[in-house]
Amino acid sequence: MKEPDNKIIFIGTGGGRVVMSNQSRTAGGFILKLPTLQIHVDPGPGALSGTSKTKIAPAKTDIIIATHEHTDHANDINALINAMTLDGVNKRGVLVSVKSVIDGTEDDIASVRNHYKRQLQDIFTVNKGDKVKINDLTITATETRHDETDCIGVRVEGPDVSIGYTSDTTYFKDLYKEFKGISVLIINVLRPGSDRWKTHMCTSDAIKLIDDVKPELAIINHFGQKMINANPLLEAREIQKRTGVRTIAAQDGLSVNLEGIAQGRGVQTTL
Ligand SMILES: [Zn+2]
Ligand SMILES: [Zn+2]
Repeated sequence: MKEPDNKIIFIGTGGGRVVMSNQSRTAGGFILKLPTLQIHVDPGPGALSGTSKTKIAPAKTDIIIATHEHTDHANDINALINAMTLDGVNKRGVLVSVKSVIDGTEDDIASVRNHYKRQLQDIFTVNKGDKVKINDLTITATETRHDETDCIGVRVEGPDVSIGYTSDTTYFKDLYKEFKGISVLIINVLRPGSDRWKTHMCTSDAIKLIDDVKPELAIINHFGQKMINANPLLEAREIQKRTGVRTIAAQDGLSVNLEGIAQGRGVQTTL
């Protein structure tokens, strides 16, 4: 079967301190492979080595989006820029991220080294509400409430794509407004059931958000150890039962064909 050229590939689907230390799942983020652009979102540890295990070439990445400077979201940025530019031989690619990642903070250095910033064609520093247009794509930074003040989520929209990604955030009443009209919603759900952690969402929060946004497809992602122990597949099933929205639990290496969604043919996934 021909490989779809409009898909999401999950490189690493773990999150939080425990999973970072035991690597029961990696935290390499995910790739949007669109007909004209390849976007790597939140390249945490394992982003580069995880990508090389798929059919995706890291050298073909066009855009890196890092939503905040936590290690499980930004650790591999330098390695990824190195791969996509052949260490500066091909000056290319775009980084869309926040100030703490790009410039650092008062008491910490930036996640991206100056050496690698110089290898990029463009760098966009964004705050919530900002929009970046690249070719026919619009990337919008969305609001989060997380323990990193400039953390953002994103909407990625264009002729072939309508994807929202919450990144790390606690649930708040107006969160759904950030993702109104989105077809595919990727939600970072650290913990199962109603086991709330102050800076992240749990399954009950995801149910409320999906109920309000009503996407065509919801994908839960970025699991902590308690979530992995509870089995994300069962949590996704519960969310689907409660919301009536098709819900998938991401896995390291999972590929989700977006063409099926756009054409109303249902969702095809492969591992
Ligand atoms: Zn995280
Ligand atoms: Zn975080």
